[in-house]
Amino acid sequence: MQRSGGPPIRTCVACRQEAGKAELIRFVRRSDGSVAADRTGRLPGRGAYLHAAAECIETARKKRSLERALRAPVSPEVWSELKPDASLSPSP
Ligand SMILES: [Zn+2]
Repeated sequence: MQRSGGPPIRTCVACRQEAGKAELIRFVRRSDGSVAADRTGRLPGRGAYLHAAAECIETARKKRSLERALRAPVSPEVWSELKPDASLSPSP
């Protein structure tokens, strides 16, 4: 279901706001029932979207928004993978 003449719009499962795909991280439920962040946007499977923002990531983790959207458990590894890169690289 794509609207023509515009960029694809998806809804963040944490804040329920619509956003362009570029602002969102896609998550997929894989065939083995696990959930993975889909950085390439090409993994097959049921998908859910989350803003690439610490706020929404935290909200989704606390409220289990992704679990509910995908009907699958999200492992701690998935969340730790999403930790903002700011902690790894010094700010300019
Ligand atoms: Zn959001």
